[in-house]
Amino acid sequence: MSEQLPPPSAGVVFDRDGLRIHTFTAPEAFLANSTHIIETANALVVVDGQFVVPYARAFRAYADGLGKPIERVFLSHAHVDHFFGLGAAFADVPIHAPAQTIATLDREGESLRVERAQQYGPLVPDRIVMPQHAVIPGVETIDGLKYELAVVAGAECGAQLVITLPDIAVTVAQDLIYSGAHVYVTRDTQNWISTLGLLAESASTLFLAGHGPVADTAEVRRTIDYLTFAQQTLATAADPQAFKAALLAAYPERTGAVILDICVPRLYAETSE
Ligand SMILES: [Zn+2]
Repeated sequence: MSEQLPPPSAGVVFDRDGLRIHTFTAPEAFLANSTHIIETANALVVVDGQFVVPYARAFRAYADGLGKPIERVFLSHAHVDHFFGLGAAFADVPIHAPAQTIATLDREGESLRVERAQQYGPLVPDRIVMPQHAVIPGVETIDGLKYELAVVAGAECGAQLVITLPDIAVTVAQDLIYSGAHVYVTRDTQNWISTLGLLAESASTLFLAGHGPVADTAEVRRTIDYLTFAQQTLATAADPQAFKAALLAAYPERTGAVILDICVPRLYAETSE
């Protein structure tokens, strides 16, 4: 890890009967991307690949330090801050993603990479690695642990993989939750809000987020509140600056305001089309 870059945080967030979950979070300056490792007796399952090269490599080094083979990587959705790192550090392991995610990467992955590489140079990997396997929604058992795989459409992204581990009441929600942070707001949040409602009412009590620390049910409900406020405010705010200011004023305790500088201009670009 380069000395100029702030360190990530990484550690065990769940530990029961030899089953461990590790969460690796990039610093706030790099969107606090959170990626996860589910460690069972004989294998590791990785969720997402980090954003920029140094943190992707550090995440891989953390995984390798556990001394077990990576059975597979799940890619949750087709946003660069989750799939770029796969090209830098996970090209040698099987990658599974929703079919819609694979189609988006096939269509846009390389052009997004070239565009960002002009901006961020060597922080961006030198290639896109395509997932080789389409996730089939349903139940799968990996190294003795049951995985319920679902693909949610029309939330933070066109297609979002949600993984529930029913035996331990854990849901890997990725970008449905920006834990403790400002949220990447989209124009129509209705389906996102109802999906979070189902998660809050579900048997799961621990939610792994795509940004920020592990969340509890209360944080899921706070995200519903945030998105509801954002939707109402978007309908009435005079301009992008007013919309952003309203979110900052309403949620001063939330970190990661830099995400608003990414999503708010996009929201307003959509309206003017
Ligand atoms: Zn993200």
